[in-house]
Order: sequence, then C-alpha cells, then structure tokens
Amino acid sequence: SSLPPPRTRIFKIIVIGDSGVGKTCLTYRFCAGRFPDKTEATIGVDFREKVIEIDGEKIKVQLWDTAGQERFRKSMVQHYYRNVHAVVFVYDVTSAASFRSLPAWIEECRQHALGQEVPRILVGNKCDLRHLSQVSTELAQQFADAHSMPLFETSAKNPHGGEEGGGRNSSDHVEAI
Ligand code: GDP
Ligand code: MG
Repeated sequence: SSLPPPRTRIFKIIVIGDSGVGKTCLTYRFCAGRFPDKTEATIGVDFREKVIEIDGEKIKVQLWDTAGQERFRKSMVQHYYRNVHAVVFVYDVTSAASFRSLPAWIEECRQHALGQEVPRILVGNKCDLRHLSQVSTELAQQFADAHSMPLFETSAKNPHGGEEGGGRNSSDHVEAI
C-alpha cells in the first residue's frame, strides 16, 4: 500500500504510408471515435493518444501520424522512429500506387532498425469504396504473408461496413486499429 501508483505505460505506434491513404483519418477515428471533418483532418499533430485497458492495466496508445511530413521527412525521421513499439503500414485500396509504395516504406523502417522483431500490421483503408478497389484482398494477403504481417482491410470513414449510403458487403472488412 506504500507503493506509488504504477505509471501508465506508453505504447508508441507509428502510422506509415503514402500521402492521402488515410493515416490522419485512421488515427483520428481510433482516438476520437469518429471520422474527422475537413478542418480537424488538416490540423498537424505529431501524434494522437488514447488510453485503453488491457488485462486491467491502463495503457496509453500513442499513434504517430506523419501530418504531411512526407515532404520534409529527412529532418523528422529520427524523431519519428525513436522508441517505436509497433508499426502500422497503410495503403489505400483504391490506389494501386499506394500499394506499390509499401516495399519502400518497409525498407525505410528496416533501415531504422524496425524489422520483424517489431510488431507490424498492414492496413488497407477506404474499403467503403470497395467498388473502386484497385488492390484485391488476395494480392494484399499474399504481400502481407510474404512480410509476416497480419492484414486488415478497413475504412476510417465507415468501419462497420457497407457502401456509403448503405449497401451490401456489410461484414467484409475488419476494424483494424
Ligand atoms: P493521409 O494523408 O494519409 O493522412 O490521409 P488523410 O487521412 O488526410 O485522408 C486523405 C483523404 O482520404 C481525405 O480526403 C479523407 O477524407 C479521405 N479518406 C480517409 N480515409 C477514408 C476512408 O476510409 N474512406 C474514404 N472514402 N475516404 C477516406
Ligand atoms: Mg495526414
């Protein structure tokens, strides 16, 4: 009873992928529980936080968003990759180019000593636009398997399924983070 209360542990998770894939919207969805409006999405922050409870212990999850630093990454990059507990790679299912960029992002991570020993997941975002998909689940799953990562297909906009305005496919993706 004389012990001080335990400090809340912080889990730093970095969210990586091309500009426009939905990194900001995904981190916002996770921390605020909803899709951001236009102005909220453009406010640049290093990270968003949310306290969750796992096995009775409160854990502070820090999701690091690149907030447009894609362009001046050189100076940011050390700060960004320091003390990382997990990595989320994001592509946009409606953008084959964002999927093709993944090896470069994975390589950058590896260069910062974040290899397979750090938990990594692959997230295909914008599944609410499934009808515009350019990246099949099968192809993404092959890639994920080849890199020993689990794959989650999701939507920051409509994580519980269905096309915009209601439609079919209500359970074909998973809320990833
Ligand atoms: P970032 O550059 O990776 O941070 O991408 P943003 O989070 O800023 O999102 C880029 C654009 O994609 C914005 O216009 C978002 O409204 C849109 N967007 C993000 N996530 C989704 C999604 O799940 N579904 C759809 N339809 N649009 C999304
Ligand atoms: Mg962003």
